[in-house]
Amino acid sequence: MPQTYPRPLPQKTIGVLGGMSNQATGEYYRLLNERLNASLGGWDNGEIVMVSVNFGNIEHFVRNDLWDEAKAYLTEKIERLERAGSDVIACVSNTMHRVVEPIMADRATPFIHIADPTGEAIKRAGLTRAGLLGTLSVMRSAELKQRYKERFGVEIVAPSAADMTIVDRIIFDELVRRDLRPESKREYLRAVDEMRRAGAQGVILGCTEIFLLIDQSDLPELPVFDTTALHVDAIATFALGAK
Ligand code: GLU
Repeated sequence: MPQTYPRPLPQKTIGVLGGMSNQATGEYYRLLNERLNASLGGWDNGEIVMVSVNFGNIEHFVRNDLWDEAKAYLTEKIERLERAGSDVIACVSNTMHRVVEPIMADRATPFIHIADPTGEAIKRAGLTRAGLLGTLSVMRSAELKQRYKERFGVEIVAPSAADMTIVDRIIFDELVRRDLRPESKREYLRAVDEMRRAGAQGVILGCTEIFLLIDQSDLPELPVFDTTALHVDAIATFALGAK
């Protein structure tokens, strides 16, 4: 029996802070609707509002360490998402959580931090040490390390300084443009293997475009935690709660 819903279906509005990058944002939009349709059935999917920012601004702020400027820029975007009726807000970039988390801490709208479903999944898998791939800012972040440790008992194993530079360069020069190269995939898998040797029991794809390049099928013996997929799942689960 197909489910019958009151029409229009009362449901939560998902506010997506996107554009960093546009590639990740397109994937969030697709995956959120797929995930919600899988639960709701029929023709139903999500109600989503999005503010998609100019990645040129983000790249400028991140690579020049202009976090106050980034915070001011994104505060105004978050206000727009709230004015558009978001019942929950999620940001598609691990990197920008550095400013979005403190912005959202002062606001009433629920916020789903990308590290939380990821940390929960690692904890559920019974692991306590995970490698981390992401932008330089993410891989060096003391706040993120602390969040994974304090909330989920997960110790972060970061790549070597040389590998961090390579991983970061590939994100900005290639992945955010969906330029997917076999030689970059080899570099990522090599960096993951180094972290495995340093004690990582799994690896966090801590940048929302990395799953375009590598996934679990490339690492049959090491559990992979994709922040994009885990975040989407948590947002969809929240959105399916009573309105
Ligand atoms: N999508 C990215 C992330 O998850 C990187 C792009 C950015 O600097 O925001 O961190």
